Amino acid sequence: MIRGLKAPSFMDLALLTAENAGKAGEVPIGCVVVRNYDVIATAANRTLTDHDPTAHAEIVALREAANKIGSERLVDCDLYVTLEPCTMCAGAISFARVRRLYYGAADPKGGAVESGVRFFASPTCHHAPDVYSGVGESEAARLLKEFFRERR
Ligand SMILES: [Zn+2]
Repeated sequence: MIRGLKAPSFMDLALLTAENAGKAGEVPIGCVVVRNYDVIATAANRTLTDHDPTAHAEIVALREAANKIGSERLVDCDLYVTLEPCTMCAGAISFARVRRLYYGAADPKGGAVESGVRFFASPTCHHAPDVYSGVGESEAARLLKEFFRERR
């Protein structure tokens, strides 16, 4: 497993959350929101469980974190997610004013950070987090690969 230079244990927690979601039949993607080295939200994909197309791990975690700190702006918060965020989640991360985004595997088919629309680099993006990619990449990619292999 490739470990990031900063707080790799937070990505480990996101990976563990992803793995548990996979066992429950959800696409194994996990997310953790951290503030001052405290985990304030942990979430996995819940789209099937909740019958909610917007229940991506990042959205669920951002809601929980915002609820916990009582603000829609997650100033000084860092978000760890096992897969490159999609367009919707990149937008939400921007609206939430997340400070740093750490993600694992790139998603050339659905991602919106280094792939697709590259939302944070677009002129309509008014806040871009610092982005660190490839943190826990191989483990995140393995979870997804095994999940979809078992489903074929
Ligand atoms: Zn998403």
